[in-house]
Amino acid sequence: MRLTTVGTGTAAPWPGRVQSSHLVDTGSVRLLMDCGSGVATRLADLRIEWQTITHLAITHFHADHIVDLPTLLYAWRYGQLPPRSEPLDMIGPAGTLQLLSRFATIFGDGLLSLGFPISVRELAPGASLDLADGVHLRCTKVPHTDESMAYSVEAGGRRIVYTGDTGPDEALGAWANGCDILLAECSLPETMAIATHLTPHQCGALGAAARPGVLALTHFYPPVEAVDIRGEVATRFDGRVVLATDGWSLDLEER
Ligand SMILES: [Zn+2]
Ligand SMILES: [Zn+2]
Repeated sequence: MRLTTVGTGTAAPWPGRVQSSHLVDTGSVRLLMDCGSGVATRLADLRIEWQTITHLAITHFHADHIVDLPTLLYAWRYGQLPPRSEPLDMIGPAGTLQLLSRFATIFGDGLLSLGFPISVRELAPGASLDLADGVHLRCTKVPHTDESMAYSVEAGGRRIVYTGDTGPDEALGAWANGCDILLAECSLPETMAIATHLTPHQCGALGAAARPGVLALTHFYPPVEAVDIRGEVATRFDGRVVLATDGWSLDLEER
């Protein structure tokens, strides 16, 4: 199982970081989680085969996590020859189907008749889903927006958890406990702490509760780039920490 952090940025344009998106490759499953602005081009920059993505999961409906959804849908139809024929599985919170039809209102109904089937599965918090080939997806509610969810992807005895955007949440730490990679948002410095995002100290506390093999941090707003993220996380969590960049990836052997 491989995790690639495709986009590690936020709503704030920042050199070198496009908005949120992360890819999990395992067996026949190529799962893209979130799809913010710049992601389609970043996939190409990184020489990632965007053509063969099989699943697209959305954590919540903020623009920095969804606006390249139409870009990618159109790329599959008009950006390759021959056009995509393989089905696409979309997964998201309740409201994902409505989100797609709202995009179609803007871009035209052609967005939903691109010549390949799109299935949309809306998950309630706590739900789980078999994606294919023994790859298992689970979700849990996180404190950010009403619909916001974290995802857990499990395959071959390995587990990757992606928090999406979240505030501090003890239940999330327990839910993620023992995962191989905890990919957590790290939005703001302590001086700007709010209930719906994490600071480096709060990421450290989350790491201490979850005890992941690797705590990978993403979703850095510019003010947090100015503080000693690694040092602040280390006051709470003594495990391996990675400050993810666009294109960082980690392979997990099956066990
Ligand atoms: Zn965000
Ligand atoms: Zn958000």
